[in-house]
Amino acid sequence: MDKPALHISLFSDYLKPNQVVFDLKSKDKVEAIEELLDVLAKQKLIVNKKLILTRIIDRESLVTTAIGYGVALPHARVDSEDQIAVAVGRSDKGIDFDAHDGQKVHLIILVVWNPTLPGLFNHLFAGLARFLIKPENRGRIMAAKDKTELYEILSGIEFRFIHEEKIVSRARLLKKLQEIELKRKKASKEQQKELQKQAAMIREEFDKDVLSRFDRLMERYGFAVADAVEGVCQSCNINISTQMYSAMEESNDIYVCENCGKYLVSAKKKKK
Ligand SMILES: [Zn+2]
Repeated sequence: MDKPALHISLFSDYLKPNQVVFDLKSKDKVEAIEELLDVLAKQKLIVNKKLILTRIIDRESLVTTAIGYGVALPHARVDSEDQIAVAVGRSDKGIDFDAHDGQKVHLIILVVWNPTLPGLFNHLFAGLARFLIKPENRGRIMAAKDKTELYEILSGIEFRFIHEEKIVSRARLLKKLQEIELKRKKASKEQQKELQKQAAMIREEFDKDVLSRFDRLMERYGFAVADAVEGVCQSCNINISTQMYSAMEESNDIYVCENCGKYLVSAKKKKK
């Protein structure tokens, strides 16, 4: 295979100091999102704040954008806006985002993106997740003493624009798409419309390679995403390599079962 071209950009290409809020005033999710949108509106990076807020909340209610470890990446796709607009807010007290791990969110990175740039959005998302998954990086962010220091840390985040075939982030989102597609098979005409809308919203966020593979698997087997429980793929019952499984456990990335080819999502037994 050809080696893909590697292009590196930095978060500072998209994030300027005045798009960072050192300590968010808001105490809940919707307020915090609005506080960050106000920042973007003030910088004239977005036009239709109301519409964007609605889009973000709609998306948020589908599957939380909290990626765990106190980090959330709320986002919306908006046709009218320029390219990509990013705002970052930190919260000392933490904000409830319905995170998978039950943790409050202390860092919110809000992204408004234009549908003509799905690739850019995906790479930003993957790059941020890769950086924030490391405890030492999150520690630095939370220890920052002021806005300048916080910006310095954030601006150095690297994005590697490289095509990765096996890993895409947001495994839970893909699983949600599967749930919706399965529901659609039995849904009434009334329900169809809403489900279709939800499916479309999710599809916008994935590269077409992932989606066409997903659709092929759905058509062939009736499902495309399998749980990985305690190192075993629940579709083929074969052990996943230890290395892959431990990487999966710490992330929301999607891996492909090397045996049966299904997308794998880590389904740890939740302690509730
Ligand atoms: Zn398998």
